Amino acid sequence: MIFELPKLKYEYGALEPWIDAKTMEIHYTKHHQAYLDKLNKAVEGTELDNKEINEILSDIENIPGNIRNAVVNNGGGYANHSLFWQIMSPNGGALPNNSLIKAINAKWKSFNNFKQDFSNASLGLFGSGWIWLVIDESKELEIVSTKNQDSPISDGKIPILCLDVWEHAYYLKYQNKRADYISAWWNVVNWKKVEELFENVLN
Ligand code: MN
Repeated sequence: MIFELPKLKYEYGALEPWIDAKTMEIHYTKHHQAYLDKLNKAVEGTELDNKEINEILSDIENIPGNIRNAVVNNGGGYANHSLFWQIMSPNGGALPNNSLIKAINAKWKSFNNFKQDFSNASLGLFGSGWIWLVIDESKELEIVSTKNQDSPISDGKIPILCLDVWEHAYYLKYQNKRADYISAWWNVVNWKKVEELFENVLN
């Protein structure tokens, strides 16, 4: 095994009632595990098997053509979920602090405007994908979306917050009500982690 499943720092039920235990369990042990297994299978015995996943995704032109799709899809799935678990916490919600809230307010005027824009993007994404808060090439905050398991790292951006809007992320509890999932999710955002990622990039 080359890449490994990162340990969850909380129990499957820890994000209840916002994210239910069954969804967490299936999402982590089945979906995330499947991306990992397929990624490992694709890179085994290639030059990629000693590289960091973010390094690989930041330079997808250099992935050998015969495994490029598999690595983009499954390496993206592996990396995206690894970040997603970290930016959620049973002690999440509320507001970011310090430099991050200043940067959000500078860009969106208020946290509520930011939240509205991020939620609208999440609701408006057709099909399966992710919504991200990233730091772009000019060190500016930006909300972007990606299709499937594509990573904003492949576009030269550094993700600090992400929301999985694939139906597998919410269907058991919310069925077709993506808007309810999105508004519930804000209650578990681990702003401490998001701030840490933000400060790592800017300092
Ligand atoms: Mn997912």
